[in-house]
Amino acid sequence: MKILEEYTLDQLKQDFEQKGYKRYRAMQAFSFAWNYTPIQEMTSLPEEIRQELCQEYTSIPVTIHKEFVSRDGTVKFLFRLLDNNLIEGVLMKYKYGYTLCISTQVGCRMGCVFCASGIDGRVRDLTAGEMIGQILAANKYLGGGIGNDRKITNVVLMGSGEPLDNYDNVVKFIKLVSASGTINISQRNISLSTCGIAPKIRSLADEGLGITLTISLHATTDLNRQKIMKVATAYSLADLFEAIHYYYKTTHRRIVFEYILSKGNVSAADAKRIASLAKGLSCHVNMIPINKTPTSPLEPASQEKTREFFETLKSYGITATTRRTLGSDINGSCGQLRRSYLKGE
Ligand code: SAH
Repeated sequence: MKILEEYTLDQLKQDFEQKGYKRYRAMQAFSFAWNYTPIQEMTSLPEEIRQELCQEYTSIPVTIHKEFVSRDGTVKFLFRLLDNNLIEGVLMKYKYGYTLCISTQVGCRMGCVFCASGIDGRVRDLTAGEMIGQILAANKYLGGGIGNDRKITNVVLMGSGEPLDNYDNVVKFIKLVSASGTINISQRNISLSTCGIAPKIRSLADEGLGITLTISLHATTDLNRQKIMKVATAYSLADLFEAIHYYYKTTHRRIVFEYILSKGNVSAADAKRIASLAKGLSCHVNMIPINKTPTSPLEPASQEKTREFFETLKSYGITATTRRTLGSDINGSCGQLRRSYLKGE
């Protein structure tokens, strides 16, 4: 089955024309689909067109299976896919609107020791339509859609999965979701977070997208990084930073580093190494308090080391902020909710 939300308006027009439908019917189907309407309920399309479309297309590839509302208003969704796989997403309210954190794979094969998404490996990649579907489902939950108030204004690809391990679908998703006529989310409001697959960062630089690249750095020596992130055995920090510098030179977009505040990786020396690796980049460091997972060996860094780290970054002109811990009472971190749900907790 083809997923309706995965087609651009032009592609649908062509397809509809070939079927002998009027071209404006494609426009109708397109806006219904982006408003989270099942094909059967696309009432301005004649019944026979709806019937025929249902033979070939499906819409609504993602539904909300369960939602968990945190005391701070953050909502964690367990989304259901058409094959009954479950993925998760997090809805966060900020002053400027809503940000949705979406998943890009069912599970993950990157195997970072602190992350719950990788514990059981990767099940499968998500299609572009399934990434779009998460946003449409959340928009619907908030009572928004195209034509109404678009509720979700910002998207972060920071849920389960490694976006650059599902490269083609992710790029297709970014292009579709930022295209006019869809929900038109500005590429400037999209952040892609990667554990650091260096060659894919280079490819991404050449796509000409205006998104923010976020790097899960977490350590500043190859040895320390290899202890916590499998990807670091494939790409050294030198490889990774070569790719990041290329990305920056090509796109002129500020780079964001995510840095888990773990014991052994947070010190003045670490900050100094970041400054040296990032020399010439415009960048920001997002300091992340560890969210404890059952299998993670990481211990939190002391306040004193954290302050040292922060002050040293500052002395090199690098801004850093601590990430707000939203939704920690509802299994807020990557992969935790799906995992505890599947285990029946
Ligand atoms: N694979 C991508 C995106 C998913 S992880 C990546 O690696 O960037 C998104 C972010 O959540 C990453 O920065 C990751 O390091 C962080 N994260 C995962 N588990 C965490 C935990 N237990 N505590 C704090 N941050 C965590």
